[in-house]
Amino acid sequence: MNNQFLDQSIEFVKGVGPIKAALLQKELQIATVNDLIQTFPFRYVDRSKFHTVHEAEEQQGLIQLKGVLSSIRIQGTERKKRLTAILEDETGQLELIWFQGIKWVEKVLIANESYVVFGKINVFRNKKSMAHPEMELLSSLNENRVQQFYPVYAGTEKLNATGFDSKARRKVIEAILSHLPFQQPTERLPDFLRLSMELLPYPEAIRGIHMPKSWEQQQQAILRLKFDELFFLQLQLLQAMGQRKESAHGYRFGEVGQHFHQFYSEKLPFELTGAQKRVIKEIRRDCGLGVQMNRLIQGDVGSGKTIVALMIMLLAIDNGFQACLMAPTEILAQQHYDSIRTLIEGMPIRVGYLTGNVKGKERKELLKLLLLGEINILIGTHALIEPPVVFKNLGLSIIDEQHRFGVEQRAKLWAKSHPLPPHILVMTATPIPRTLAMTLYGDLDISVIDELPPGRKSVVTVKKTEYHRTDINKFLKEQIKEGRQVYIVYPLIEESETLDLEDLNNGYERLLDSFPRPQYQISVVHGKLKQDDKEREMARFVKGETQIMVATTVIEVGVNIPNASVMVIENSERFGLSQLHQLRGRVGRGADQSYCVLMTGMKVSREALFKIKTMCETNDGFKIAEADLQLRGPGDIEGTVQSGLPAFKIADLTKDVAILQRARKCAEQILQSDPKLEMPQNLPLRNHLQKSRGKKENWRKIS
Ligand code: ADP
Ligand code: MG
Repeated sequence: MNNQFLDQSIEFVKGVGPIKAALLQKELQIATVNDLIQTFPFRYVDRSKFHTVHEAEEQQGLIQLKGVLSSIRIQGTERKKRLTAILEDETGQLELIWFQGIKWVEKVLIANESYVVFGKINVFRNKKSMAHPEMELLSSLNENRVQQFYPVYAGTEKLNATGFDSKARRKVIEAILSHLPFQQPTERLPDFLRLSMELLPYPEAIRGIHMPKSWEQQQQAILRLKFDELFFLQLQLLQAMGQRKESAHGYRFGEVGQHFHQFYSEKLPFELTGAQKRVIKEIRRDCGLGVQMNRLIQGDVGSGKTIVALMIMLLAIDNGFQACLMAPTEILAQQHYDSIRTLIEGMPIRVGYLTGNVKGKERKELLKLLLLGEINILIGTHALIEPPVVFKNLGLSIIDEQHRFGVEQRAKLWAKSHPLPPHILVMTATPIPRTLAMTLYGDLDISVIDELPPGRKSVVTVKKTEYHRTDINKFLKEQIKEGRQVYIVYPLIEESETLDLEDLNNGYERLLDSFPRPQYQISVVHGKLKQDDKEREMARFVKGETQIMVATTVIEVGVNIPNASVMVIENSERFGLSQLHQLRGRVGRGADQSYCVLMTGMKVSREALFKIKTMCETNDGFKIAEADLQLRGPGDIEGTVQSGLPAFKIADLTKDVAILQRARKCAEQILQSDPKLEMPQNLPLRNHLQKSRGKKENWRKIS
């Protein structure tokens, strides 16, 4: 046998055959022998331990017991026909049941012999039974049993129906591995790397994961295979990034000129935080290299991303280019437009504003000036990327709150500049845990603003129930009396949209009783409103004409109303953690102490309690993102769902942070000295990458 054997179709392996092979391919994407041994067990059963009938329980999962077999008989007829037997130990009796393969099972079972049975316990009317147990004669146990830990493989119903269940699969894999030459499958890491990381050789790890001789060996095997998975992914991502930088020419912003300096020394209304300075520096360096920049800025809500965006736009202008800033909603675009115009007041810079609502003569004039290059900065919604919008020389595109934009829209931005693509800066307030970011955006540069402007008070967050309603209303009135504004947020989940709307409307009615007009004015915004009405209601609140804003989650993104100091979140247990954090970020933006009241039902699940507790304990978006990751796993984290996280065979981003970091570092070091992996010592790496690329792995790119 050689490597060719590993590449062979699984069909020709003894115990598989064409039908099972077709199912394996279709349901589990297992085509070759190699694929089969590279699909790992999802758990193990410890078969060194025997349970007694008395203490055996349903929740223990797969367990084994030993005892003497008796009363083997067939009961019922036709479709109710089944084979039963009794296993008895010193503590009690267990009924064993077979519904299938009855004839065959009956033939092989021997009464009054001692057996080991293995399976899952059912309890019905105080009687314990086990259906379709694995049976083994106790007397043959010692010769056959070399392993303690038996792997369990995830199968499918159809596969099980063909007889290829976890046990059958285990047998096939065992046969393959025990016939495979000692040094196969081939090692894929160079010795220097494997030894310095103290990892098992690859062939040993593959055997160790399927047929562990000890707990220790199994752990070592898992570690090695996790490392491989994360390491090769990082190697690939980093190599792609290196290649992109080599080939993607971009405009050189070599000058830090007059506008930037003037703004910095005369206009900047506050001292930049250390994190803001660092990020600006990172971006400046990036834009000066003549390579197209693709950078993500992560910064918690309120960390001051806007000013960073503005200063980079000034840099673009200093180098003779136009810049644009795109926001996901009109309100946000308007806010950016207003605040940026205020910030640069008196400077010779022209700012344009474009949304779908800018029409007719105004629009025509704007587009003309844009084409002539007389507009330096264009701010707007996705109207910016429509075909009629033509720049004279766009050098920089900034996208705010990126998770609202798809890949396609970003691609349209690229096309807005000739001969080179503009630099792209994506800003997000959805902190992504570092491990996820390294994987999701591994080929993208990331800057993190991990510091809030000084003097920010963290938002005091409390959990309350209906029981406290009167007190809460009283508190809201006090706040309003002091001139503050209040958000009241209701969940909106698509499946139960009508119900949610009802919640909101009921809540609004109740609110009208407690906060009567004309003393109190209330805005209502929800998804069923027309865009114009929504915007108008929002605008009333922004201007301070209303003191209370009742809304579904539409206010989530980026709105900045420093005067709003209280947020009440109804049914808070129904929101995700990251979403709660985003919502809370709408308050605490001014100088006053702000509050977030998380309303919950009287009874909440443990998971919900964990969410609420996390919210009450910390204001740190990264900590919250980590907690969210623990809670929901990487696939569900906001902002990652659409981006297509690669599917891992064995690594788990919620747990394997340390391994990932080591893997990333190794990949960096190797590529630094040998970017194309041409050195002889790195040959195994290159070979492996080539092989797995051939198999088309699913990486996504942001741009
Ligand atoms: P976000 O990162 O959520 O977009 P913004 O850019 O809207 O945050 O900034 C939030 C608020 O903080 C704004 O009112 C802004 O003027 C203010 N701000 C930003 N940077 C600083 C700073 N270094 N010092 C003081 N205030 C700042
Ligand atoms: Mg913002």
